[in-house]
Amino acid sequence: MTEVNAIISLAGMSRTQLRDAMLDAGVPTRQVRMRVAQLWRWVYYSGVTDFEQMTDIAKPLRAALAGRHTLARPELTERQVSKDGTRKYLIRLGPGIEVEAVYIPGVGRSGALCISSQVGCTLNCTFCHTGTQALVRNLTAAEIVTQIMIARDDLGDWPKAAKDNQSRAITNIVFMGMGEPLYNLDNVAEAMSILSDGEGIAISRRRITVSTSGVVPQMHDLGTRTQAMLAISLHAVNDELRNELVPINKAYPLKALLAACREYPGASNARRITFEYVMLKGVNDSEAEARELVRLLSGIPAKINLIPFNPWPDAPYECSDWGRIEAFAQIVNKAGYASPIRTPRGRDIDAACGQLRSTSVKKRASDKLKERLAAQIPS
Ligand code: SAH
Ligand code: SF4
Repeated sequence: MTEVNAIISLAGMSRTQLRDAMLDAGVPTRQVRMRVAQLWRWVYYSGVTDFEQMTDIAKPLRAALAGRHTLARPELTERQVSKDGTRKYLIRLGPGIEVEAVYIPGVGRSGALCISSQVGCTLNCTFCHTGTQALVRNLTAAEIVTQIMIARDDLGDWPKAAKDNQSRAITNIVFMGMGEPLYNLDNVAEAMSILSDGEGIAISRRRITVSTSGVVPQMHDLGTRTQAMLAISLHAVNDELRNELVPINKAYPLKALLAACREYPGASNARRITFEYVMLKGVNDSEAEARELVRLLSGIPAKINLIPFNPWPDAPYECSDWGRIEAFAQIVNKAGYASPIRTPRGRDIDAACGQLRSTSVKKRASDKLKERLAAQIPS
């Protein structure tokens, strides 16, 4: 929840929390259900920011709510718009605590919002900028949900009238911003039930993708609790290299990871698992590795996303040459996998994959990375 001078915002609250807020505001128990339904529509369908706009709620109740709560979102400290239409939002959650969300037009039916689940990340994938930032903390469910609310405010993406839920700018959500969502599964699951609720923001669970570096013990739970679409940050086809690039592989190696994918609840040809593969020049981009990738994924309903490496200051890698990426893609395609090469979006504003990290701790974190590389400690 967002605290503004200790007054808690309703933006981001679950139905249960809204019910408690109503009871505290003096709503009789027998009316609470109806009032929560009304409030839910105002907060999550219409996106109002002023209690006075809640025209079907009686004035005294509006006043009682306004005396105890706000409808404020966390502070948007910076908003950047890229040449290609990508928008990056820097959101301040508290002193020195900032996260980023990125809107990418032209994905899905209309556009995707890439959101964060943690401030920073405890994992240290060597090619990822976020991984160089120390974890500050997990986001609450409300802090996850308000990223979407802020983007909808900015894009004018709230329905103007009842039943106008057609031409939305944000049609898909991807948990591919900062953090490892499976280390914050309770809050990610709670946020998903708010976001997918048909009476409110109404983004269906099939349009919400959760990307993980491979936290194997949580994968089954993710599927059963959220029905999210799954994406795996694979990036290497043998344990030796994956141990280096994605150090969590030492705890959950490829065999265990792929077994968990085979058992992911709900995976099917209509609901494929996405495998993300960042193209690092001379590191993981050979044709032999492309063939091995195909072999490893056999029997898994999969899509492969080849991601050109997005550079960041002092990054220890370079992006593979274009010809090499195409040769890699061709092998994967021939084997029958759709393998779009993800066009880097918003590179000019550092909004592309792996470039996200709040500037607040930039210096400290880049020092940390240098120390780590100097000491050759993979994690
Ligand atoms: N922690 C989760 C989700 C966030 S990362 C995970 O790792 O899956 C989102 C995606 O961006 C991951 O596939 C990640 O491996 C990829 N990525 C990270 N740094 C990148 C970079 N510099 N260039 C391209 N992709 C990168
Ligand atoms: Fe964390 Fe994902 Fe970046 Fe790895 S790729 S450091 S898991 S955010």
